[in-house]
Amino acid sequence: MSSHKVLGIIGGGQLGSMLCQAAKKLGVETVIYCDDINSPAQNYSKNFICAKYNDETKIKEFTKQVDVVTFEFENIPVPTLKKIQEMKPVYPDPNVNFIIQNRSKEKNFINELGINTVDYKNIKSNKDLENIEKLVPGILKTTTLGYDGKGQYIISNAKDLENIDFKNEYILEKKINLQKEISVIITRYQNGNSVVYEPIENIHKDQILDNSKIPSNIDQKIANQSKNNAIKLANELNYVGTMCVEYFIDENNDLLINEIAPRVHNSGHLTINAYNISQFESHVRSVCNLEAIEPIMKSAAIMQNIIGEDIFKYKNKEYKSNEFFFDYLKKVAKPKRKMGHLTTLKI
Ligand code: ADP
Ligand code: MG
Repeated sequence: MSSHKVLGIIGGGQLGSMLCQAAKKLGVETVIYCDDINSPAQNYSKNFICAKYNDETKIKEFTKQVDVVTFEFENIPVPTLKKIQEMKPVYPDPNVNFIIQNRSKEKNFINELGINTVDYKNIKSNKDLENIEKLVPGILKTTTLGYDGKGQYIISNAKDLENIDFKNEYILEKKINLQKEISVIITRYQNGNSVVYEPIENIHKDQILDNSKIPSNIDQKIANQSKNNAIKLANELNYVGTMCVEYFIDENNDLLINEIAPRVHNSGHLTINAYNISQFESHVRSVCNLEAIEPIMKSAAIMQNIIGEDIFKYKNKEYKSNEFFFDYLKKVAKPKRKMGHLTTLKI
C-alpha cells in the first residue's frame, strides 16, 4: 500500500484547518492553497500559498510541493482541478465536482439512480415558468455557487417569479414540510470499500445549520436507507474521500436527498469528539491511501454552531470536560459567518 506524505488542500477555512490537524496526527504534511490572505487554515498547515483559483503559475507551484491534492469546498473551477490532475492525483475526482457544482445536474444524477429528491424544474428563462403551479410554494435556487441559503428565493405564489431576472440559471424546487433533516457522512477508500457514520440529525435556522446531534431520532428503516443510498452514490461516483449526503424526511416519513457535499461537512464536526475516528481523519486516510479504520460512536453528542458575533460569548469561557469549544480564528465576525462550534458529549 503506497502512502503519500504531503497533502495539498485547496481552500483555507475551518474545514481546511480541521483537515490539517487530522493530517498532522497521521504524520502527513499539508500545504493550503487559498485566495484569502486571512485564511485560518494557514495556522495549521506547513505551507500556505495565497492566490486566485485560476492562477496557473501558482497552481503549478502548489502542485509541485505536494503528493496528492484534495479540497475543502466544491466550487473550485473544474479546469483548475483537471490541470492539477495532469500532474498529481486529485481526490475526489474533479468529474464529481462537475456534477455536484450544479444543482440541476446533481438532482438529475440522483433521480437517474432511482433515489428520490423533492420535485423540481430547471428554469432558464421566462418560458420555463409555464405549468409550475404544482411547485409553488417553492424555493428558487441558483444552479451554481449557492451555500448557506445564499442564492435562494422563497416563492409563495407564481407572481413572486415576475421580479426575478433570468441572467442566472435556476431550479425551482417544491417547498416541502420538513419533519426532519438528517445527514450521512461516508468515506470511500481507494480500494472501493466504504465506511459509513451513523445518521446525524440537523436543525437549520435561516437556512444555515444551527445544530447537529447523534444518535438521530429516526426509525431503523430510514437509517438503513440513508446509509445504503450514500454507499450507492459513492460507488456510482467512484468517489475517494469523505462526502456528506444531506436528506429531508417529509411529513409522510419519506426520505429525499436534499444535496450531496463532496467534502467533509459541518454536520460531521461532532465526529471529532464522539467517534474513535473523525470525518477529517477518515478523509486524509482515504486520499493518502492509508489503512481504513471503522468508525465507532463512543458517545451521544450535540454540536452547536457559533455564528457571527455570538463567538464573543464563547471565547474565554470555562468548559466542562465533556464540552469541546472550537474557535475558527476568523479575523472578522460577520453576520451569518460560521465562527466556531461547541460539541457537548452526553456521557
Ligand atoms: P445550501 O446549498 O445553501 O446548503 P440547501 O438547498 O441545502 O442550500 O438549503 C438550505 C436549507 O434550506 C435546507 O437545509 C432546508 O432546511 C431548507 N430547504 C432547502 N430546500 C428546501 C425545500 N425544497 N423544502 C423545504 N426546505 C428546504
Ligand atoms: Mg445544504
